[in-house]
Amino acid sequence: MKRSDTMALRFGERDLTYRELADAAGALARRLDGLNRVAVWATPSLETSVAVVAALLAGVPAVPLNPKIGERELAHIVSDSRPELVLAEPGAQLPAGLRGVRAEEVGLGGSAGELPPEPDGEAPALIVYTSGTTGAPKGVVLPRRAIASTLDALEDAWQWTEQDVVVHGLPLFHVHGLILGVLGPLRRGGAVRHLGKFSTDALAKALSEDGTMMFGVPTMYHRIAEEVGDDPALADALRGARLLVSGSAALPVHDHQRIAAATGQQVVERYGMSETLMNTSVRADGERKPGTVGVPLRGVELRLVDEAGTPIETSDGETVGEIQVRGPNLFSEYLNRPDATAEAFDDGWFRTGDMATRDADGYLKIVGRKSTDIIKSGGYKIGAGEIENALLEHPGVAEAAVTGESDDDLGERIVAWVVPAGDPPAEQDLVDHVARLLTPHKRPRVVRYLDALPRNDMGKVMKRALGG
Ligand code: ATP
Ligand code: MG
Repeated sequence: MKRSDTMALRFGERDLTYRELADAAGALARRLDGLNRVAVWATPSLETSVAVVAALLAGVPAVPLNPKIGERELAHIVSDSRPELVLAEPGAQLPAGLRGVRAEEVGLGGSAGELPPEPDGEAPALIVYTSGTTGAPKGVVLPRRAIASTLDALEDAWQWTEQDVVVHGLPLFHVHGLILGVLGPLRRGGAVRHLGKFSTDALAKALSEDGTMMFGVPTMYHRIAEEVGDDPALADALRGARLLVSGSAALPVHDHQRIAAATGQQVVERYGMSETLMNTSVRADGERKPGTVGVPLRGVELRLVDEAGTPIETSDGETVGEIQVRGPNLFSEYLNRPDATAEAFDDGWFRTGDMATRDADGYLKIVGRKSTDIIKSGGYKIGAGEIENALLEHPGVAEAAVTGESDDDLGERIVAWVVPAGDPPAEQDLVDHVARLLTPHKRPRVVRYLDALPRNDMGKVMKRALGG
């Protein structure tokens, strides 16, 4: 990491230069020497960033914790990962579940001093818990090699340089906000501007000042799509950005199109997961194809397999297979779960559980998760994402999720969960809309109206809570 007086991190009105970061993190790293594992109370703050950098410098694996975590999940993570120390910003209110763990405040002063030699690439650097979308969160052990290789592959894909200032408002306890959103800019020698809480006003301000790239989840781009047509300052700020990147869940095509129409900017989608870090992306210099997640990143081997696990050579943009990946971006193991780790691999290839098609240019389109998004209805296998995209194009639909429900005749019937935009549209109207845009067998058999979809802190729809 460089040691200049240029800005490294800005959170709200507070910032740190590279020299200040190196000093604060170096001083803390010396206090961590000899520990086996630390937790970081991952508020969106300078202190969290300093704590993680310190742990990396000290070679002590760090477990970032969601500061809004509930008791049960915290108990699971603490007993699973057994941190010896929890690092937190001064004044943080730590919950009862952490009382048994020694806490240490992260300061922003100090001087770097002597640091231990850099650990081996296979040494565990971070233990990140998955989002828990499909089951209890699993601790993913990420070696230094995986983090370095994924960030360098993104440098290539996004033409990411030290001139870039990454703007985001993501939480710091997952891969997206922490590894891409903080460690990424630091590895490039550029800067992070964290918005604290995401708002389109704060985003517009940061991008119009010095921000060059935005990282966001689809719920944020949805907000932008809703507002950008009536907000010239937001449209101007986005127009001036170098690259807008979306990930963590599928970006609805309708939102992509509305943002493009208002700003000329086509959001770039990338696809990754805690276990593999980043797998694919639309390249900064590549063709944009809304609804796709682009091509494999440099160094990532990717294949599609059928139900028997046999690779399928397809480039028709239609045949669906499960994505498997191999490469230096992969995790080492699930913490304390040798069986789950073994099951996750097929002869060295990681089974992502995500289903996709591939077109003639090698662009992948995620159809959905094998476990919740593939609906077997009337002899067809139907991906939920396509129907969700179609529903979102209806003016009466603000949000939509599609699940399968068991059905005596069809095997499974398609259920649409809809958050209306204003007065709820008639059920038959939505059914006809999908049948007209797609094909009749993809039409929902049931429509259920909700005030909001159940989402986790990354904005991912928790289909488990919808019975999916
Ligand atoms: P759990 O593994 O605990 O069920 P999770 O899979 O949501 O939770 P993460 O590792 O945070 O936990 O998320 C990875 C998943 O997010 C991927 O497997 C994929 O399903 C989804 N995802 C990520 N990026 C995209 C994208 N651009 N488009 C569609 N889905 C995406
Ligand atoms: Mg997962």
